[in-house]
Amino acid sequence: MTAYPHLLAPLDLGFTTLPNRVLMGSMHTGLEDGRKHFAALAAFFAERARGGVGLMVTGGFAPNIEGWAKPFAGTLATSGAARRHKEVTDAVHAEGGRIALQILHTGRYGYQPLCVAPSRLQSPISPFAPRELSARGIERQIRAFVRCAKLAREAGYDGVEVMGSEGYFINQFLVTHTNKRTDEWGGAYENRMRLPVEIVQRVREAVGPDFILIYRLSMLDLIPDGSSWDEVVTLAKAVARAGATLINTGIGWHEARIPTIATSVPRGAFAWVTKKMRDTLSAEGLTIPLVTTNRINTPEVGEQILADGCADMVSLARPLLADPDFVRKAREGRAADINTCIACNQACLDHTFKNQLASCLVNPRAGHETTLLLRPAPASKRYAVVGAGPAGLAAATALAERGHEVHLYEAAAQIGGQFNMAKKVPGKEEFSETLRYFGRRLEATGVVLHLATRADAHTLAAQRFDAVLLATGVTARDPKIPGQDGPNVLSYIDVLLHGKPVGERVAIVGAGGIGFDVAEFLVTPPGRSPTLDLHEWMAEWGVADPGAVRGGVVRAQPAAPARRVTLLQRKAGKLGKGLGKTTGWIHRAALQMKQVEMIGGVNYERITPQGLFVTYGEQRKDGQLIECDTVVLCAGQEPLRELEAPLRAAGIAVHLIGGAHEAAELDAKRAIDQGTRLAASL
Ligand code: NAP
Ligand code: SF4
Repeated sequence: MTAYPHLLAPLDLGFTTLPNRVLMGSMHTGLEDGRKHFAALAAFFAERARGGVGLMVTGGFAPNIEGWAKPFAGTLATSGAARRHKEVTDAVHAEGGRIALQILHTGRYGYQPLCVAPSRLQSPISPFAPRELSARGIERQIRAFVRCAKLAREAGYDGVEVMGSEGYFINQFLVTHTNKRTDEWGGAYENRMRLPVEIVQRVREAVGPDFILIYRLSMLDLIPDGSSWDEVVTLAKAVARAGATLINTGIGWHEARIPTIATSVPRGAFAWVTKKMRDTLSAEGLTIPLVTTNRINTPEVGEQILADGCADMVSLARPLLADPDFVRKAREGRAADINTCIACNQACLDHTFKNQLASCLVNPRAGHETTLLLRPAPASKRYAVVGAGPAGLAAATALAERGHEVHLYEAAAQIGGQFNMAKKVPGKEEFSETLRYFGRRLEATGVVLHLATRADAHTLAAQRFDAVLLATGVTARDPKIPGQDGPNVLSYIDVLLHGKPVGERVAIVGAGGIGFDVAEFLVTPPGRSPTLDLHEWMAEWGVADPGAVRGGVVRAQPAAPARRVTLLQRKAGKLGKGLGKTTGWIHRAALQMKQVEMIGGVNYERITPQGLFVTYGEQRKDGQLIECDTVVLCAGQEPLRELEAPLRAAGIAVHLIGGAHEAAELDAKRAIDQGTRLAASL
């Protein structure tokens, strides 16, 4: 008996049977680009094959240079390249896994000067205008897709995924927003859809019947002038007839201004779109298996989606970065041990967009499987870890996993440190998953946990530990504003952790990650979060039924803000610049919808019972009273490490990690990574 009968059921594709309904969706890790990373890429996929996922899809490989996402992006266009891929496919097959190669032609999204498109229309997310393809040029692209698929078969892949969504090359042909052609590739929809149908048909002819061919279909474009529902259904039927084995769901073009995978997006938020397609196709007697995707991060969510008949498979990408053993743990009844993806994007997508290798905030081993190893320690030692925030939790559990005796001291009554505040912010509910995971890890690895215990240097020294790891975190920075001791001034800790009452009009000093979080918390009515209510979230962002409106976008209808909030910083320029590369715009847009006023370039002169008095610029001109009932201080942090000096004086080896090491730009990604790497080295 399993709690996940639908998720763990095999899927018969006719010529092969997948062991379960979990597809590891395509994700660019950076390991695809350049041959030097192939051994690491093989280890990355082998570990996930071992974890039992039914079918994996690689990050995108371009079929030719015109299709590059960036200069010298991973390409599969020659037999020599195919031979190198063998290292990946052999490693996966040795673990009993299956893997398909994604063919990704980025079209006008290419961040490179050779990019091509149906029409010469530059995208808002690339500085390069594409070259408009001639009819012969289009034929060359189709041949490149076919060649790439044949080479994938030669390289030992079990299939290919033709990337037809997210606003990439194929998608650009489908809609008039990007296709202004007047030849047989533009105009009427049957012309615009000719490209994907032709590609699927000719790939199928080239690879034979016993090769998985996934077509990733944009079911909801989330852009004005996107495809109508009738067009999407017409295309689904055509690619099924043309030889696709599975149809995967694509949600939202990259240029869409609606979040689709961020942590504030409700779990399984788009499964209804795939269900709509599945119902439509089955009403017409078509039974091609459909894959649904986006924000499916636990076995329970996947199971429910499948049980509700939304799809035949669920695609999880980032959750398999967070935990390669997701499926195995679900199968073994150990779902509570899964390290859940919190959809933060901080170490995966944000890295990719900064041209860094992708990893995972909650699992720093992701992408580093060959270098970051938690091997059994040659000799067991005794360690004290002080502070059970992300850094301390990561270090303590990794040390104990390696066989050391570990004592973890925490002054508060519960583990989690700053995460206990983050999880209270509407749209950040997922952060509590990491605390659940670490709670289980502490038990499983046998860490001795001392809660509500403020460790002092004397006691620690007396215990004769081999070393003490200080993960004591941070303390709020004092901005030293005259009047800040008044009763109308609170710190972010008062607001988020202690739930102190806050007035109707609020000024927030400091617009870093925490200033934004506090603003989000204060504009949302208590106990409410659109992330936990799909209909409210859809209204908030203007997501609609694509059957009713092209592309599924309507005017956003955000709920009225619970308070009038002004968010301030001393730096001139746009607020929120330092937020995550792929999520900063979402935080800014969310606060703008709640009429939060954002002001940069201020000097904080004084706080009075009437509010916060600021001036502007170096001349401290144009004094202005920002009338408010409460001022909340979110002015950053300083490291908290008062134990360091006395411990060192007592001759104890001390290591500083997380915020205690450096508070500037502190984040959980650095804290967990640092804690894990230190533990791996001791
Ligand atoms: P932060 O990002 O360092 O921001 C501190 C803010 O305070 C800045 O706006 C800064 O802007 C201002 N400030 C600095 N010194 C000041 C002073 N003496 N007086 C008045 N204002 C001052 O720190 P944080 O917001 O506390 O966040 C801490 C870390 O947690 C972040 O770095 C982030 O990595 C992580 N976090 C991230 C997120 C997220 O990405 N969504 C959310 C929460 C936390 P000015 O100097 O221009 O005034
Ligand atoms: Fe998920 Fe964040 Fe890890 Fe990316 S970095 S896989 S979003 S937990």
